[in-house]
Amino acid sequence: MPETKVKKEEDFNEWYNEVVELADLCDKRYPIKGMNVWRPHGWEIMQNIDGIIRGEMRRTNHLEVYFPLLIPESLFQKEAEHIEGFGGEVYWVTHAGENKLEERWLLRPTSETAMYPVFSLWIRSHSDLPLKVFQIVNTFRYETKQTRAFIRVREIHFFEAHTCHRDFEDAERQIAEDKEIATRFFNKLCLPFIFNKRPEWDKFAGAFYTISMDVLMPSGRTLQLGSIHQYRDNFAKPYDIKYEDENGEHKYCHQTTYGMSERVIGAIVGVHGDNKGIVLPPVIAPVQVVIVPIIFKGKEKMVLDACKQVHSALESASVSSYLDEREDTPGRKYYEWELKGVPVRVEVGPRDVEKGTVVLARRDTGEKREVKLEDVVSEVQNLFEDISRNLIETAKRLLESSFFRVKNVDEARGKKGIVEIPWCGREECAVEMENVLDMRTLGEPLDAEECDENCPVCGEKAKTWVRLAKTY
Ligand code: ZN
Repeated sequence: MPETKVKKEEDFNEWYNEVVELADLCDKRYPIKGMNVWRPHGWEIMQNIDGIIRGEMRRTNHLEVYFPLLIPESLFQKEAEHIEGFGGEVYWVTHAGENKLEERWLLRPTSETAMYPVFSLWIRSHSDLPLKVFQIVNTFRYETKQTRAFIRVREIHFFEAHTCHRDFEDAERQIAEDKEIATRFFNKLCLPFIFNKRPEWDKFAGAFYTISMDVLMPSGRTLQLGSIHQYRDNFAKPYDIKYEDENGEHKYCHQTTYGMSERVIGAIVGVHGDNKGIVLPPVIAPVQVVIVPIIFKGKEKMVLDACKQVHSALESASVSSYLDEREDTPGRKYYEWELKGVPVRVEVGPRDVEKGTVVLARRDTGEKREVKLEDVVSEVQNLFEDISRNLIETAKRLLESSFFRVKNVDEARGKKGIVEIPWCGREECAVEMENVLDMRTLGEPLDAEECDENCPVCGEKAKTWVRLAKTY
C-alpha cells in the first residue's frame, strides 16, 4: 500500500501537515491564514466528538445555549486581568456599512464577557443556582505565531461550559465533576492525558486557578487540549452576578468554566495516525466499517448480494457502514479508506461467498481475519473494542516512556517528553529552568506528593515537582 511522502517517525510536523490534507479533514487554501475550511470528513468527525461532549453535558445537567458572536467593548473591558490577557488577540468590528460604530465590537475570543452580563439578569435567588450551561461555537484569536491545522488557528471550533454557584465550595465540587467529565471524554477518544495545575503567571486571564489537560504528541511536545478554571468571584464582582440567599442577604456567585477546542482532532491525528493516514477510534468514525466487493467477471451479482447482506446487518445493529461500489480497483479503495482512518474494512470476494465467510481487516494493526458471514456483526463489535483498547494502550506506553523525574536541570537536558524537577514554587526558578531547557512550564501535578529534594536553581527546599516540556 502507498504511504505518506513524509514519514511520521522522521519528521512528525511535516507528516502531520501532509496527513490532515490527504485524509480530507481540512483545506488550508482559504485566503485568510489560520482560517481553514472544514471538509466533510473532518467536520463529521468533529460533530461526532461534539456529540460525545453533549452527552456528557446532558448526564451532568448542563443546558446548551448559544450567545452572540459580537461583544461590545465596554462589556469586554470590565474585568481588568481578562482584558489584559486577551487585549492583543482580538479582532475588532469598527464599522457597520459606511458608518463608524459609536462603540467598537469584538469577535468573541471566549464568551465570559458576553454571557456574564446576561447571567446577572438570569440569577436572582439561591434557587436559580447552580446555573450550568455550555455552548459549542466558533471563537476568534489573532494568532501571530505560525498557524497549524487544528492546533494553532485563528477561527477556533470551541466548546465552553460556564457555571455559577452559591459559594467557593460548590464551585470546587463543579471542578471535581469537570475532571471526571474530562477523564471519561478523553478515554472514549483513546487519548491518555495529564492534568496540570498551571503556574500563577500562566493561568487564564481572570482566573483564581487553572487546570490544563495536556497530551503528549509523538514529537515529544505536549499539546494543551482544554482547561478548567476556578474563577471564585473574580468575574461576579465586575459583572454584578449576585443572588439572594435564604436569609435575604445578597451574595456574589462563584464561577467555573471548562473549555476545549478542535485541538482534540489534532491530537487524534497526531497520536493515533501512521504512515498510511489517520486512525480513528471507532466511537468517532463517520464510517466505522467500509465494505469492499472484490469483483470477478460473471460473479458480480453473487458478491454484491453478500455485500448488501453485510451492509444491512451492520446498519440494523447501528454500525455506520459504507458499501463502496464505485468503479475502481479494490487496492485503490483500500488506500483511500486507510487514509481516512476507517477502523474496519470488510472484503468480500467470490471465494468468500462460496465458503460463507468474509475477511475483516483492522486499520490500527493491519491484521486480517476470516469470519463467518452470519457472525459479522458481533465480530465487528468485538474488533471495535480491541481497536479502542489497542489505541489507548499504545498511547499510554508512549506517555509513560516519555516521563522523566530528575533531580537537577542537567539531568533533564535533551529529554524528549515531560520532565519533573523539584521546585521551590518561585516563578524565577521555573523561568530559569525554562530558559536552560528551552521548554515551557506545564505546572504542577494536581495530587502532588511531598517532594524531599531541593530546588536545583536556588537550593532551597522544594515544595513540589514542576513539570516542563516543549509545547505546541
Ligand atoms: Zn527555587
